[in-house]
Amino acid sequence: MRIADRYARGGPVVSFEFFPPKTEAGFRSLYRTIAELEKLRPGFVSVTWGAGGSTRSQTVELVTRIEREIGITAMAHLTCVGASAEDLAGILDRLAEAGIENVLALRGDPPRGETDWRPVAGGFSHASELAGFIRGRWSFCLGGACYPEKHPDAPSFEADLDALRRKVDAGVEFLITNLFFDNGDYFRFVDRAHGCGIGVPIVPGIMPIVSVANIRRIASLSGARIPPALEAELVKVGPDDASVMELGIDWATEQCHELLEAGVPGLHFYTLNQSPATRRIHGSLFPA
Ligand SMILES: Cc1cc2nc3c(=O)[nH]c(=O)nc-3n(C[C@H](O)[C@H](O)[C@H](O)COP(=O)(O)OP(=O)(O)OC[C@H]3O[C@@H](n4cnc5c(N)ncnc54)[C@H](O)[C@@H]3O)c2cc1C
Repeated sequence: MRIADRYARGGPVVSFEFFPPKTEAGFRSLYRTIAELEKLRPGFVSVTWGAGGSTRSQTVELVTRIEREIGITAMAHLTCVGASAEDLAGILDRLAEAGIENVLALRGDPPRGETDWRPVAGGFSHASELAGFIRGRWSFCLGGACYPEKHPDAPSFEADLDALRRKVDAGVEFLITNLFFDNGDYFRFVDRAHGCGIGVPIVPGIMPIVSVANIRRIASLSGARIPPALEAELVKVGPDDASVMELGIDWATEQCHELLEAGVPGLHFYTLNQSPATRRIHGSLFPA
């Protein structure tokens, strides 16, 4: 099913994001996670596109298996990193042949060790170019990424929103946000996007904190701010992972309650391939 149609039917649409593991054991564990989360009847799941190496073809294999064998609508992420238009066309043909209907069109980050983004020869500079390329030749439903606190490379909010509008004009039908910990950032961003004429669903991306090391690394990589109130709570609970996870679940649950009350089109959970935190949050939001 096309994900945009699912949002159009009315929400909230709950979705889960996974990444392709690097090992056999990782795959076994991921399939257990998917089996647990499938019981929550997600609207769709998505599988990230690796920054390089062997996990790339695994995205195609994983979405195909999830969609065909497990029967959940699965979206493939796809980035422009290290790929020419011809390379990307080969991947898109494979996805279409496998019956995948949804693609998250992304630029991606510069390869490890590089700071500035440079497209490869015959490749694309921005996600909007990838979206336009896909729209011209395939009939995938397209999603895109957006950043409530501004993409770190963008010189200003205005420039970032201008680029976002181009992405939507190029054919992106819904947007999923970067993770954020302060709903105020999301609400202000949505108002600004609407003010720029962006009318597609803007779905909040939620990442429950599972450990201090993990959240500090992810916050610094993604550019998401840890608000002072959360920072104070983190300091209070200390380094114990179990206590941090409890705090993470409480914080994300409160965020989600407020977002649902505000009528968001859906909730997209960055699961980190683990089910317990997401299941607990889902359980308090949608008690059986
Ligand atoms: C929901 C979500 C899922 C993600 N999944 C993955 C994944 O699977 N694999 C992965 O490697 N990364 C993933 N990322 C990270 C993402 O690839 C990076 O954040 C990357 O730096 C930007 O990608 P983008 O698609 O947002 O790029 P773009 O939309 O191209 O934006 C990148 C920068 O370029 C600017 N820009 C865009 N268009 C123009 C233009 N026409 N002119 C001038 N400036 C412009 C923007 O303002 C921004 O600063 C994900 C991010 C999110 C939020």
